[in-house]
Amino acid sequence: MTRRRSWLPGVLLLAAAVHAAELPPHRAHPGGIAVIPLGPTDGPQPQATFGDTPVLVAPSDGQWHAVVGIPLSQPPGSVQLSVSDGNNASRTVPFEVGDYSYREQRLTVSKSFVDPDPDEIARIVAERKIIDAALKSWRTSDTVVLQIPAPVSGRKSSSFGLRRYFNDQPRSPHSGMDIAAITGTAIRLPADGTVSATGDFFFNGKTVIVDHGLGFISLYCHLSTIAVEAGQQLAAGEKIGEVGATGRVTGPHLHFATYLNGNAVDPALLLAESP
Ligand SMILES: [Zn+2]
Repeated sequence: MTRRRSWLPGVLLLAAAVHAAELPPHRAHPGGIAVIPLGPTDGPQPQATFGDTPVLVAPSDGQWHAVVGIPLSQPPGSVQLSVSDGNNASRTVPFEVGDYSYREQRLTVSKSFVDPDPDEIARIVAERKIIDAALKSWRTSDTVVLQIPAPVSGRKSSSFGLRRYFNDQPRSPHSGMDIAAITGTAIRLPADGTVSATGDFFFNGKTVIVDHGLGFISLYCHLSTIAVEAGQQLAAGEKIGEVGATGRVTGPHLHFATYLNGNAVDPALLLAESP
């Protein structure tokens, strides 16, 4: 009995430390995530920016790491982080962004989703502002979980980044992962967070956006029902809504998107079961 008491807390401590240190894999390409070491954790926690945007910094294996979302539109080549170590001096940390080619996808949808009328265009512009503000928000947090379960079980398409044509007209690349599930399937929040916005949007349909802190944001689209409100603080596992087919879709599924420092990154890199 005494023996069990003596080793059990040690095992729990070790497990907690490993979990906190779990970072996504380094995939420095457009739509990927760069994991860049910034120095030992016995020094002060550095602050990093990419462009003008603050970047998530987390400890792992005795090192501070910047976890950088790379835009889908980023040309390959050398880029740099600006890093401040707590004094006034800042330094630049360069890293290479590799090439990556995403496949093409052609979809057929109702004509109004390709040629919206002027009223619909005004609505789209107004909604874009709400969505962009929520995707770019920054909230300080002591903890952040970067390896998460899928929000619904179902077949995960490798659809992130696809260069899309709707009714043969080019549109923005696909900024999330589509998960096949039937209407009414519960969507569970994969990590603690605060709901930053909800809405019934023209393209995205019924939508929930959740702020997990330090610029990590998740987005859930095309829901049949929304079960949460803006401002609510939620724990991992709570139900945020149900899968549906609202907005610009060809059938029921969950559009699940993840953002780091304002950029959509491949959700597969954040899913714990991914290789
Ligand atoms: Zn989608």
